[in-house]
Amino acid sequence: MTTISMPLQDALAAALAWLYETEQPAGAMKDHSDLLFLVDGTRTLTPLVHEQQEEDSASAALPALRLDVASEGGEDTVTDRDLADLAEAVRAAGYPVSGTWRSAPVGRHRFSGGYVGLLRPAHPTLIAAADLFDAGCPAHGSSSMRCGDFWGADDEEQACRWYADGRALLVEPELLPGGSR
Ligand SMILES: [Zn+2]
Repeated sequence: MTTISMPLQDALAAALAWLYETEQPAGAMKDHSDLLFLVDGTRTLTPLVHEQQEEDSASAALPALRLDVASEGGEDTVTDRDLADLAEAVRAAGYPVSGTWRSAPVGRHRFSGGYVGLLRPAHPTLIAAADLFDAGCPAHGSSSMRCGDFWGADDEEQACRWYADGRALLVEPELLPGGSR
């Protein structure tokens, strides 16, 4: 997760470069935690490798960008205009867009964010990294980030390294010069 705030255009360029241009090494794993960019101090932009697109289960293998408010609980919300502007910026960068949709409410959470769906699949090595995590630990059958905690975590020699080793290989999005993590 990045903490430096940046203009939307810069965050978008970094997110698209990571989704489409970054080759992940063999064995890299992408778990379900988000890698997000802080935009203008008030929004977050999250590149998603696989996102179920609105009313279209066949598109579950396609990526999306999620735009959300940086801090929950206030009155701030991502507007349809924000999503339309983001979609336009994505198209202008040369990537076709399937559409935009709002976040589904979860429990008592408000509608605070939304998505821009992308029509081009992510880099094949990034898809492979996501699939590798979803396939789970070959030794323990677990698809948990905490596999190592469950199996001999008290003992360094015995602890399962499946998650830690795969996650360590993942190449994260490039940040701007001078940025910090
Ligand atoms: Zn394991």
